[in-house]
Amino acid sequence: MPKIYNFGAGPAKLPEEVYEIIRNELTDYEGTGISLLETSHRSQTYMKLNTEVQEVVRRLLNVPANYKVLFLPAGGQGEFAAVPLNLMSRTGTADYVVTGAWSEKAAKEAKKYGKVNLVVPPTNRYTGVPDQSTWNLDPNASYVHICTNETIHGVEFNFIPDTKGVPLVADMSSNFMSRKVDVSKFGVIYGGAQKNIGTSGVALVIVREDLLNQAMPICPSILDWTQTAKNDSILNTPPMFAIYIMGRVLQWIERKGGLDAMAEAAEKKSSLIYNIIEGSNGFYYAPVAKNSRSRMNIPFRIGSSGGNETLEKEFLKGAEAMGLIQLKGHRSVGGIRASTYNAVTLEEVQKLAQYMKDFYAKHKDLI
Ligand SMILES: *Cc1c(COP(=O)(O)O)cnc(C)c1O
Repeated sequence: MPKIYNFGAGPAKLPEEVYEIIRNELTDYEGTGISLLETSHRSQTYMKLNTEVQEVVRRLLNVPANYKVLFLPAGGQGEFAAVPLNLMSRTGTADYVVTGAWSEKAAKEAKKYGKVNLVVPPTNRYTGVPDQSTWNLDPNASYVHICTNETIHGVEFNFIPDTKGVPLVADMSSNFMSRKVDVSKFGVIYGGAQKNIGTSGVALVIVREDLLNQAMPICPSILDWTQTAKNDSILNTPPMFAIYIMGRVLQWIERKGGLDAMAEAAEKKSSLIYNIIEGSNGFYYAPVAKNSRSRMNIPFRIGSSGGNETLEKEFLKGAEAMGLIQLKGHRSVGGIRASTYNAVTLEEVQKLAQYMKDFYAKHKDLI
């Protein structure tokens, strides 16, 4: 089997160093003689870990003191429900900026609990973040929801919108901890861990304290941020192992130089691929507008803007033979998608870049 280069969109590659740590700690967690997998969530051992992971989140993002750092079960989509259940009661209505499949799904979930105002006109072709001057924000909204990085469509925000005092809620599942973020500009930041900061099953939620204590009476306790905060994220048995892995990934980010280092690497890695696309005379085609191109997920077509499926199949087959895997675009959009998350190294992206150049040289006369 060739060496594997994993460009999957999620669950995505974890850093090799983190695997080494997990292997070493798997059956004897920090000298306890047992695995974390069979340790009580009420033990000193787990409470220490629970605090450590919150602290590394606070250090990396410089989280202000008036925000809670919470671990919730049910991943990113659990929070699609938790956001309206915790925040919509104030006015019964919420603004959703739909820029791709994930924010579309979030808006759909929110509709179960109140009125949803679509801030930008609905479309089925997501190719960028519409300019804020065109947005139709409702001053009466309980909150404004955005997805800072659309994992399927490859659309990333390059600015923090001005919501005129209405709390801004951001799904950062696929670009969490990829650059510095001014947390004070947000009411809530959340994300599932399995894209850029760990494995599936846990959502990291950062919530401003004044937004607690307004959950709807029907809000399940397990999704209630206020109850979770009161219980220091040990309301029930938390997804302990997922939280542990997230902690080890975040500590790795810190050792690597923190979020500035991640941002610099993300810029380098993604522009390597985008430059090849731009230099290919239309052989490779990236649908997203330049100012909204994701540094984390790079979708592209081959042969034409609609994609030549024969060429795309051949591209994927050749890639797999070289160990370049999980490059197939999401089934809803087709084509190719390369994910260049924190754990994917520059060398790995260079390998993909070389493959793209070679494939172009071999096939460019076909189009
Ligand atoms: C993957 C993803 C989700 C869903 O996460 P789950 O943990 O599978 O529920 C939500 N939002 C974004 C942006 C994602 O990439």
